[in-house]
Amino acid sequence: MTDFKNEFSWSKSRDGLFNECKRKYFFNHYGSWNGWDHNELDRTKRIYYLKKLNTKEIWLGQIIHEVIKYVLNQLRIGKIISLSHAMAILRKKFEEGFIQSSLKRYTGFNSKSHKFFEKEYGIDISKEDKKELLKKAELCLTNFYNSDTFMTIRKTSIENWIFLEDFLNFDFEGNKIFLSMDFAMKEGDKIILYDWKTGQERTADFDLQLTCYALYVSEKLGVSPENITAKIFNLSINKEDVFEINKEKLEDMKKYIREKIKLMKSLLVNIEENVAKEEKEFPKEEGFYCSRCNFKKICSGEW
Ligand code: SF4
Repeated sequence: MTDFKNEFSWSKSRDGLFNECKRKYFFNHYGSWNGWDHNELDRTKRIYYLKKLNTKEIWLGQIIHEVIKYVLNQLRIGKIISLSHAMAILRKKFEEGFIQSSLKRYTGFNSKSHKFFEKEYGIDISKEDKKELLKKAELCLTNFYNSDTFMTIRKTSIENWIFLEDFLNFDFEGNKIFLSMDFAMKEGDKIILYDWKTGQERTADFDLQLTCYALYVSEKLGVSPENITAKIFNLSINKEDVFEINKEKLEDMKKYIREKIKLMKSLLVNIEENVAKEEKEFPKEEGFYCSRCNFKKICSGEW
């Protein structure tokens, strides 16, 4: 058995799963727990295996984020990565991703290996699809390099860079809140938060995510909401949107998180130990989300 503890937390992605389908939420956060352990029940291992699949769009977003993060990390230590160099890294990751996904050795255990959701579920990714995906990734990276945002970041002294980290967390009324912010920096009295997008997310989701970032900055750094600006840079369409933050938005966010945590905890049999009720207590919400659900095989009984 693992020594890790399945601790309760809240994050935007967890919230998204909870809203989509309670059974999916159960599989992702409870049913898959410890599935990386070879001694676990076969069903748990299978759920964990499915949890680690990524759709081609999600995976593409991940590799674009990884390359931009690498470029910024290098810049932080004074090394400038040219666009052609960054592009070469991106193409290598892209090809490797397709090779990895085709290998039989994917087990879901190795966090570095990857398999497409499409591959697992027999959905063809044609040569044309692959070409289009690479074109999109290259466009996103080029847009980033040519953007005013990147220019501003380059001109900003490193002492004013704040975050360039994967997983951040803060305590909210005794619960851990996780978030992942792409970049943040100081500009005079202000804090500017950035998020790179590569897909077609809805504006309502941006609001939730950015307000959560602002809540983090306000709680951790004691910055007043009026001095926080959040920006979404949609790399595929080369468009930046600015979201103003204010006290009311932060209060609404707190209320939202508080209510959602209460609902999530109502599905626990032991709140202290984060032990979930039985699987059947998490209703299947069959419909729109099933077609792109990682857990379809296990949910339908096919596995
Ligand atoms: S297949 Fe549908 S009902 Fe089953 S877990 Fe996924 S989204 Fe929920």
